[in-house]
Amino acid sequence: MRRKLVVGNWKMNGSIAKNKALINQLLARLQNFDAADFALCLPYTYLFQAQQLLTGTNIAWGSQNISQFESGAYTSSISAEMLKDFNCKYAIIGHSERRTISHESNEKAAVRVTRAVNAGITPIYCVGETKLERESGIAKKIVEAQVLAICNLDHTTFERAKNVNMVIAYEPVWAIGTGRAATPDEAQEMHHFIRVLIALRDEEFANRIRIIYGGSLTPNNVCNLLTMPDIDGGLIGRSALTADDFSKICEIACDTTQCLI
Ligand code: PEP
Repeated sequence: MRRKLVVGNWKMNGSIAKNKALINQLLARLQNFDAADFALCLPYTYLFQAQQLLTGTNIAWGSQNISQFESGAYTSSISAEMLKDFNCKYAIIGHSERRTISHESNEKAAVRVTRAVNAGITPIYCVGETKLERESGIAKKIVEAQVLAICNLDHTTFERAKNVNMVIAYEPVWAIGTGRAATPDEAQEMHHFIRVLIALRDEEFANRIRIIYGGSLTPNNVCNLLTMPDIDGGLIGRSALTADDFSKICEIACDTTQCLI
């Protein structure tokens, strides 16, 4: 039985005052939730604040990207080692907004995954097809190429990825921020497909890797999605910005049996 993971992706939102209020609300609501794992991925500028407020709590924190480089003359980049200074547990890598804005390739995303695992940071590696790709019938082909980029990592890196419990987030691009999530069947089919691809490289890891769903996940659809057998949690954008919504999703992640009532 895989333990569920719920991650808030705050994107480019927040301020020192707003973060403090939201984090304190979340800490109060989540304090007795011990049957799932939780994390917030904030803008780099607020990682120090997250570290101050979240150390010793049941909410971990992380970044929304990671540099493909180790160090040096890469203006505006943030390295894995720098993130480690703030005790980041997670780093989102290959988010579709990064893939679109920076034309990030699967190969570059795989290098970022390598940087993360070398630093002991758990990558949340995002995959997912666009609307056009789904409508053209090539959704699985696209996701397969994205997943193979990490399945083809060298032995040492793949072992490190296993050791830090690398996470995959299936985020259909057409569902992100649109209010239209994938149906549970659509999501389950892709999650299962991803697990089968991982099994080709490592069956043991395929059984335990957490594959989380992202794309307009809300308190209204969380029951339907999180009760599917291969959906191990959620990567949440908009619903992570209010304590009510995010804590409701976390509550369900802790106990999906309440969905049956
Ligand atoms: C995301 O961008 O990772 C995401 C899942 O966003 P939303 O929940 O707003 O669709």
